[in-house]
Amino acid sequence: VMASMAHLQEEKLRLQEELLGLQEKLTARENDELSRSLQLQSQVETLKAKLLEQAQEISRLRSELGGTDAEKHRDLLVAENERLRQEMKACEGELRELRRQQQVPCQGCAHLQENAELQERMSQLQREAEEMRAKLAELELEVQQKTNRLAEVELRLKDSLAERAEEEERLSRRLRDSQETIASLKSQPQQIKYIIKTVEVESAKAKQALCESQSRNQYLQEQVGMQRQVLKEMEQQLQSSQKTAAQLRAQIVMYEAELERAHGQMLEEMQAMEEEKNRAIEEAFSRAQVEMKAVHENLAGVRTNLLTLQPALRTLTHDYNSLKRQVRDFPLLLQETLRNARAEIGQAIEEVHSTNRELLRKYRRELQLRKKCHNELVRLKGNIRVFGRVRPITKEDGEGLEAANAVTFDADDDAVLHLLHKGKQVSFELDKVFPPQASQEEVFQEVQALVTSCIDGYNVCIFAYGQTGAGKTYTMEGTAANPGINQRALQLLFSEVRSKAADWDYTISVSAAEIYNESLRDLLGKEPQEKLEIKLCPDGSGQLYVPGLTEFRVQSVEDINKVFEFGHVNRATECTNLNEHSSRSHALLIITVRGLDHSTGLRTTGKLNLVDLAGSERVGRSGAEGSRLREAQHINKSLSALGDVIYALRSRQGHVPFRNSKLTYLLQDSLSGDSKTLMMVQVSPAEKNTSETLCSLKFAERVRSVELGPVSRKAELATWPSQEHLEGDSPGTAAPPGRGHTSSSPGQLSGRAASIRRKLQTSG
Ligand code: ADP
Ligand code: ADP
Ligand code: MG
Repeated sequence: VMASMAHLQEEKLRLQEELLGLQEKLTARENDELSRSLQLQSQVETLKAKLLEQAQEISRLRSELGGTDAEKHRDLLVAENERLRQEMKACEGELRELRRQQQVPCQGCAHLQENAELQERMSQLQREAEEMRAKLAELELEVQQKTNRLAEVELRLKDSLAERAEEEERLSRRLRDSQETIASLKSQPQQIKYIIKTVEVESAKAKQALCESQSRNQYLQEQVGMQRQVLKEMEQQLQSSQKTAAQLRAQIVMYEAELERAHGQMLEEMQAMEEEKNRAIEEAFSRAQVEMKAVHENLAGVRTNLLTLQPALRTLTHDYNSLKRQVRDFPLLLQETLRNARAEIGQAIEEVHSTNRELLRKYRRELQLRKKCHNELVRLKGNIRVFGRVRPITKEDGEGLEAANAVTFDADDDAVLHLLHKGKQVSFELDKVFPPQASQEEVFQEVQALVTSCIDGYNVCIFAYGQTGAGKTYTMEGTAANPGINQRALQLLFSEVRSKAADWDYTISVSAAEIYNESLRDLLGKEPQEKLEIKLCPDGSGQLYVPGLTEFRVQSVEDINKVFEFGHVNRATECTNLNEHSSRSHALLIITVRGLDHSTGLRTTGKLNLVDLAGSERVGRSGAEGSRLREAQHINKSLSALGDVIYALRSRQGHVPFRNSKLTYLLQDSLSGDSKTLMMVQVSPAEKNTSETLCSLKFAERVRSVELGPVSRKAELATWPSQEHLEGDSPGTAAPPGRGHTSSSPGQLSGRAASIRRKLQTSG
């Protein structure tokens, strides 16, 4: 029992020690957080020391006092133990309080850490509780064992009691037997005496054995008492042990409850924290998502930008590098290049200069060549051309037979015209024939090449020839609504000059003059009556000029109209009957075109003479008198002179009689050389005018058919037939003098001309 008590004591001590260890651990854990825990620890330490002391005291007392004192001491120790336990509980309560206090300021991001700590602590506590439980189980097992042992001891005690009772019974039975035997023996004297004697001997022995058994019984009874005491003690001990176990269990339960509470609290906290955390996380997550979205969008944009930019960047970088290299090498290269370039440029300039000179030289030569070729072309076409124009029948022609149409045309050949004269049809071939329906425009189209050649520096003469009323003025001047060659020519010149303005400077000036009775008058001058003289240029160029002839510079159609109006006014003021007068005088419009080529410095001067001749009708020899006759003679003379000059020019005679009339003299430089002449022969288709028409056409054909060549040149040395000679000439028979050997028929004449031309061409 002592041993078991010691063992129990030891067990208690161990438990206490363990408890202390736990406390120590706890305090150690809280050490750095709590200052008071240190104090408690020290208190616990002192308590432990006291406990140890008490334990020592217990052992000492146990050895000194034995059973009952030990019991007392044990009770004391139990009380002490209880006190200590209470103290410990208080300490623990304090500790918990402190812990709770510490747990209270739980906030913010410390939660998680604290949570972890709490969890750790909880798990530790749980572990401890588990340990405690295990220990409790152990203790219970031990208690069970002890109870078992106690039951054994009781059993044994019962056995020994039963044994003793048996022995007593046996002894008492033996005693009874013995006494019976003694009695029997007493009854059986001798034998009995003997037997008594033996029994007496034996009785002493039995008495001794009885004594012995009685002492033994005494001893056993003592032992039983002792055992009972031990049992009682043990029961008490068991009771205290059980109490302790219950206490421990309660403590454990309390611990567990506390643990549960702490756990719940912690769980709550954890949940709150979790919620908070979740909320915070959710918030942060949503915010992050929004930001992320924006960032993603940005990123996408940036990525696309990046994608598009990357190749550009690459090329840029490449370019940059190459540029850098170039920049590095640039100054040297530049200098080198500049040097080279300077040299090259110098050389090139020199080359260009020489090329330019060469080109200019070639250009000049080509220009001359072109001019020559053009001349050749025009010469091939003929420098002198003769056109015929038939005016329509007008009201003035009257009615009836007299106004009948006597002129017909060839549908296939626009150069042929047939005239019905006195029942006979006479055919004429000219360069071109304009029928009555031909418009001013059409007529001008045939003339315009001639007009433009005047820009190239050629002199041109356009004559309108024919009897009065045949349409000369209509062709040259036209009407306001339908202008003639004069105005159209000037308009054409203006447009041509404008189109060449890039290379050439042109000035166009106009003069207007009239030749009446062999005297020249300026139609644009201030003194229209004044007679002008024609003089040779003093510079020896052989050029003619008219001193005092007014020249107006014109630049537009308005200028031309003004000039014409002015001329008309001048012409009208000095005569009573303009129509009458105009048919008796030659009207000249002289257009001068002067050009200057910027690039070559070449100068050109072209003159365009537009002449509205006097009426070519013959005046009856007997019918004309006085001034009328003089006029007729002058007209005849000048027209004859014109014919002579043209003939002489076409037949390339050495002498051209320009001086025979004022008209030819004035137009000398525009008739000779490379000049071009157009004779527009105007005819009336009316029956009554057929004889005059015939005369005009004959004049035209003669002008045209003058053939050049050795035969005709020699043969045609004679002068041109005068107007008088033409008078009375009948068609088919009239032939100019010196031409008798040739056929008088115009058709045959032109046929012969063609044959001569062919011959000339083949002979080279
Ligand atoms: P060359 O002057 O070289 O002898 P011609 O004077 O014979 O040349 O003229 C060359 C060609 O031009 C000839 O076929 C000639 O018939 C023709 N010709 C020249 N003048 C005229 C003219 N006024 N009308 C028609 N044909 C003409
Ligand atoms: P000339 O000047 O030869 O004397 P004009 O030019 O004065 O002849 O013409 C006489 C008349 O005939 C004028 O009234 C004129 O309008 C008219 N005339 C002449 N030619 C034509 C023509 N081709 N078309 C229409 N009328 C014309
Ligand atoms: Mg007229």
